[in-house]
Amino acid sequence: DETDSEITFRFKDLTTKLCNPDQLRAKPDEADLKFGHIFTDHMLKVFYHRKLGGWQKPVIIPFENISLHPASKVLHYAIELFEGMKVYRGVDGKIRIFRPELNMARMNASAISSGLPSFYGDELIKCIKRLVEVDQEWVPHSPTSSLYMRPTLIGIDGTLGVQQSESALLFTIMCPVGSYFSGSDDSVSLLADPAYTRAWPGGCGDKKLGSNYGPTIRVQKRALEKGRQQVLWLYGPDHQITEVGTMNIFVFYEDEFGERVLATPPLNGLILPGVTRQSILQLCDQWKEFRIEQRAVTMSEIVQRSRSGKLLEMFGAGTACIISPIRSIEYQDELIEVPTMQQQNPVYHRARAELVAIQYGHIQHPWAQVI
Ligand code: PMP
Repeated sequence: DETDSEITFRFKDLTTKLCNPDQLRAKPDEADLKFGHIFTDHMLKVFYHRKLGGWQKPVIIPFENISLHPASKVLHYAIELFEGMKVYRGVDGKIRIFRPELNMARMNASAISSGLPSFYGDELIKCIKRLVEVDQEWVPHSPTSSLYMRPTLIGIDGTLGVQQSESALLFTIMCPVGSYFSGSDDSVSLLADPAYTRAWPGGCGDKKLGSNYGPTIRVQKRALEKGRQQVLWLYGPDHQITEVGTMNIFVFYEDEFGERVLATPPLNGLILPGVTRQSILQLCDQWKEFRIEQRAVTMSEIVQRSRSGKLLEMFGAGTACIISPIRSIEYQDELIEVPTMQQQNPVYHRARAELVAIQYGHIQHPWAQVI
């Protein structure tokens, strides 16, 4: 019906134009899978033009460059948002997608915060599943690799006013990505420098906007120069820990009463609501083995728990590497050693194993939907 396109596009309107056989590209060896370098043969595109009634019909087409007006708002004011999600080829040969409805909810929240049009998440999921079907041979035949998907929404009005974009392009591209961990000890060292801030109250740190990421590059470079692998983002005069690189952060410790606690910062506007974060919280809640707290954690608390020998584990969590154990933090000329890798049967490892088992179909679970 006519009003429908104001609120969403529809999967039923999707058309597919396949590559000619001579346009199909060679698939890379698993060993050569550098993140985000090689893309699959097809892409999904949906235009939005308010003056033409809103969302247009979705199309799957051969992968191609995008042509934009040089004044497009995305190029000047970074009116852009994206998602990161994966599909996995399971041990039974079936391809699974992990909790995509959470990515869709986050994508729509990002769209609204950017003045870009929202849509029905279910409709994009169905279109994306079709795209995966078309390029299914690109899903690596491997128990540790996957196909990464990048749904993206940009404002494309060719006008320089700092105003809402009346037209937009939603597209999805995909790339095969390699193993989520490289060896037995894949722990990372962090630089925690209160001189840098990723997000602030009233800002957009809890949305997945491109403009949140560009400014982090110089800070990441600074961490590498100091011999650290990732940035531990701090906030406020009490140096609260917020996120690590592009991951949510978890701390596992034993409290004053000998009780074990898993803590992670709350979704207070400074934190991206990670799908992995939420999944770890839900899994650990089902284990019923320790207390779970969503609360602010300061660097002085980390230092104090480390000194008393009761800091057990710290780890980052995100779609890209699932769970990344932390081994040390450089903070105000001190190096805090975190004994994550020295624990017996650590929480980070058990949570990762359970997520992997779900994603690769070792166990059947409603979070992993067969495509
Ligand atoms: N924090 C930030 C800043 C991120 O970019 C990401 C990656 N999307 C995450 C956390 C982890 O989110 P998810 O588990 O949904 O990948």
